[in-house]
Amino acid sequence: MPKNAVRCIIFFYLLWISAVHFLGISQVQASQDTPTKSLVTGIRYWSGPTHTRIVIDLDHEVSYQDHLLKEDDVLKKPPRLYIDLTVAKLSPHLKEPIPIEGGLLKRVRAGQYNPHTVRVVLDLESVATYKTFPLSDPFRVVIDVLGTAPAPIAQQEETSQPPQPRQSKSITIVIDPGHGGEDPGAIGPTGLKEKDVVLKLSQRVRDKINKKLGWDVIMTRDDDRFIPLDERTAIANSKNADLFLSIHANACTDRRICGIESFVLGTTTDKVALRLAAKENNISTKQVSDLQVILADLKLNDPHKVIPSNLLADCVQGSLVKDLQHYGQVRDLGVKQAPFVVLIGAEMPSILVEVSFISNPREEKRLRNPRYLNALADAIVDGLKQYAHGVKMITDYQPSLSASTALSSN
Ligand SMILES: [Zn+2]
Repeated sequence: MPKNAVRCIIFFYLLWISAVHFLGISQVQASQDTPTKSLVTGIRYWSGPTHTRIVIDLDHEVSYQDHLLKEDDVLKKPPRLYIDLTVAKLSPHLKEPIPIEGGLLKRVRAGQYNPHTVRVVLDLESVATYKTFPLSDPFRVVIDVLGTAPAPIAQQEETSQPPQPRQSKSITIVIDPGHGGEDPGAIGPTGLKEKDVVLKLSQRVRDKINKKLGWDVIMTRDDDRFIPLDERTAIANSKNADLFLSIHANACTDRRICGIESFVLGTTTDKVALRLAAKENNISTKQVSDLQVILADLKLNDPHKVIPSNLLADCVQGSLVKDLQHYGQVRDLGVKQAPFVVLIGAEMPSILVEVSFISNPREEKRLRNPRYLNALADAIVDGLKQYAHGVKMITDYQPSLSASTALSSN
């Protein structure tokens, strides 16, 4: 064989070895560099005249960015809000647009914008304000769209008519029995489940509100079923409720701890309150710390919401402690703030009440007693009545102000 031919064979052999080696490494490198795609598994929504909540469910955490686009007269496109989720893949069953009736949105649609990005687009009726925030375990992105309901057509046509006196609207309250279904909540020393006792109590509260106050009551659940926390708030917003009351039973590893406490939404440094929030939110204490950062970003210090919620908590807590004193040893643990997911985004005065410690043997025994549940329900209803009376006194005194404005001015 000529020398040149041998050299040529050796050269191509080395070239082939190098190519195989290089490609092999590249493939390994590529598989190492390609991040795992999260699957967008669902898009849920609740829509009302002035508030729509969209929740995008994923199987893993992603980063996301939101953008608001104004109406495009040339392209005849409505205002749009879109969210890009990266690195993500769209589940095939979500490719059809979801029409949304009677709210601030026309529809929601999702698509694989590029190999790494899923884009979820909200076609809006008009430009609205919105908030987005992530929640964990399971990871989801919540989008709250807020706006003003368009006036009914009949009303628009009759603008020349003199204004009619406003009808006083009945109060609507959402009662939220904590937990349910696969989530039992806390369990007492003799096996009493929080989900069962808070449902029984909430049903008593509903019946007594109907009888004593004549308000409209909406229950987030009326049987033993699981409802995600973000859905509970969304129900209250989409129904334009005036008040939101979430009812729970407390628990502590130290079974001697007992008492009643009420919460409004907020951040806290109190370790006991943070542990309780982790338990009620069904997330880790680390995830509660992340939630506190999100809450700070959402700027939840709007006095129009904070002050009425605190007043509502004061009235219900005060009434519970006072009315149950005859049971003896009822500890008043006060009104506090903590990052409860079920209160995030609620557009009305909203509180979470821990009516007793199910982990304390004496209080667990009481919670099994229908008479004690009746006494708790009566006390809660008395607290609600006091709150409504306080708001009415302020609005009557300053009739030009709405209830929340009046409350915020005190
Ligand atoms: Zn609970």
